[in-house]
Amino acid sequence: MIYDVIVVGTGAGGATAAREITNKGLNILILEKGSFYPRGTAINHILNSKLDLKIENEEHAEKGDERYDFLHQPAELMQVNAIGGTTPVSLANACYACTSCYANSVTAQFKLHDLDLFEELIEASRDLNVGALPADMMGPTTRRIVEIGEKLGHFMEPMPKFIDFEKCNKCGECINGCKRGVKWDSTDFIDELINSHNSPNALNEGETSIITDFEVTRVLHKGRIVEGVEGIDEGGNKKEFKARRVVLAAGSLNTPVILKNSGINEGVGEGLFTDLFITVGGYLKGAKLNKEIPMAVKLEFGPYFISPHFSTQILHSIRERGFDAGYEDIVGFMVKIADEANGKLHDDGSAEKTLTVRDLNLLKEGYKKAVEILVKLGVAQESISSTAMRGAHPGGTAAIGVVVDSNLETRIKGLYISDASVIPQAPGRPPILTITAIAKRLSKKLLKSLDNGYMNQEKASEKCSK
Ligand SMILES: Cc1cc2nc3c(=O)[nH]c(=O)nc-3n(C[C@H](O)[C@H](O)[C@H](O)COP(=O)(O)OP(=O)(O)OC[C@H]3O[C@@H](n4cnc5c(N)ncnc54)[C@H](O)[C@@H]3O)c2cc1C
Repeated sequence: MIYDVIVVGTGAGGATAAREITNKGLNILILEKGSFYPRGTAINHILNSKLDLKIENEEHAEKGDERYDFLHQPAELMQVNAIGGTTPVSLANACYACTSCYANSVTAQFKLHDLDLFEELIEASRDLNVGALPADMMGPTTRRIVEIGEKLGHFMEPMPKFIDFEKCNKCGECINGCKRGVKWDSTDFIDELINSHNSPNALNEGETSIITDFEVTRVLHKGRIVEGVEGIDEGGNKKEFKARRVVLAAGSLNTPVILKNSGINEGVGEGLFTDLFITVGGYLKGAKLNKEIPMAVKLEFGPYFISPHFSTQILHSIRERGFDAGYEDIVGFMVKIADEANGKLHDDGSAEKTLTVRDLNLLKEGYKKAVEILVKLGVAQESISSTAMRGAHPGGTAAIGVVVDSNLETRIKGLYISDASVIPQAPGRPPILTITAIAKRLSKKLLKSLDNGYMNQEKASEKCSK
C-alpha cells in the first residue's frame, strides 16, 4: 500500500500536522517511536541528555566574590519520546515565539525567517484555547512577587496559557501532564483522531492510523523524490512504509539524525539553540510556590525573561547551605535566554554548544534581577543558588532557509519538516504555539500540493510503473 502522507512523531508539530490533514480523503499513517502512557505521569518520561557546553572566555566567567552555581554543573537537554512528544510536560506557556519575538516591532512578532505566521498563530491560539492567566488563579506567593516587583519598578504580565481555567484546580503539577486534561497537550489531538471515525490500527480509504513503538530510521527517496520511510518496529524488525509525502516531526534532536541517515546532510544538525535556562532560588519557610500554577507571570527583558518557578533541583544546594528546607520552602525564578544558534547535533544524537559571553551576560543579568526580587520577598540571601543550565526548547537543526524552504519542504520533493528544528534562531520564549502554527502552514502547503488533480496524476503514473 502507498499512503498519501506519513507523519513521523506526535509532538507539537507532528500531531498538529496530522490533525490538519485528517478527514480530507487522504490515507495517513502516523509513526511514533514511543508509547501511550497514563495522564499525570509525564514527568517520568523526560529524557535528560548531556549538552557539551563550552564556556567562551571561561577564565573571566566569574569575577571577584560572585559565584554562579550554574557554571559548575553539567548542562542538559530535555525531551520526551512518547505519544504527545514533549508537550505533556509543558508548563502551558503560550507565547508567540517567533524569531524576532523580542524585537520592538509588532509585525516582527509574527515572522519566522520570511514566513508571516499571523493567520496560523491566531488559529493555533484558538485551537489550544490560549488565554492570559486570570488574576484569581494566581497563587499568594506569585502575587507577592508581582507586588514586590512593582515596588522595584518591574511590571510583570500574566503569562498566556493553554489551560481551561474553569476546570483547573491550581494543583501546580502541570509538568506531570495534566491528570484532569485541562492543560492542552498534543495527546489531545491524537485522542481526537483516534476517537473520530479514524481507526487506530486498521486503515480504510481516507482514514488516519497510528503505529506506536516504531522508530523511523531513514527516509526512502528515489533521486530527489520521496518514497516513504524505513524503521524498526516493536519487535526489532526492519520495516518499510511507502508514501507520496512524508512529514518529519521527530523533534529537533531526532529529525536531523533521520535526515543524515537518509543522505541529506547539507546544513543539517547545525545552528542548534536551546533557549537555555536556569532556575535561581532560595529558602522561604512555607512559601508553597510548588502548589501554585507555575510561571504564572513573566517579566520581559528583550532577549531574556524571568518568571516565578519552582525547581526540585535547588533543594540539595539550599540544604547544603545549612537550611532545613522542604519543597514547600523553595521560591525561585526561571531565567530563560534566547541563546545564540551556534550549536551542533552530531550524527549519534549528541550535542555541543558554546555559551558565548553575550549569553552568559544575559544569564547573569537575569540572575541578578531574580536575586533582587527574592531578597526583597524575604528569601534568605545565603540560601540562594541556581540549577544547572538546561535546554528545554532545542531547535534550529534543520532551519528554514538552510535545510527547508519557506514551504517547509526539503530538497527532496515531498519531504517536509514540521517541528522545532525549522526555527532558525532562538526565540527565548516557549515555542509550542509557534510550532503549532508552523505545522498549520505546512499542512496548507501539503494539501495544496496534493490538490488540483496533481495526486491523480501521481497515482496514475505509479500504476503505469507497476
Ligand atoms: C519541562 C519542559 C517544559 C516545557 N514547557 C513548555 C511550555 O510551557 N510552553 C512551550 O511552548 N514549550 C514548552 N516546552 C518545550 C516544548 O515542549 C517543545 O519545544 C515542543 O514539544 C517541541 O515540539 P516538536 O514537535 O518539535 O517535538 P516533540 O514535541 O518533542 O515531538 C517529537 C516526537 O517525535 C517522536 N520521535 C522522535 N524520534 C522518532 C523517530 N525516530 N521515529 C518516530 N518518532 C520519533 C517523539 O517520540 C515525539 O513524539 C517545555 C519543554 C520541557 C522539557
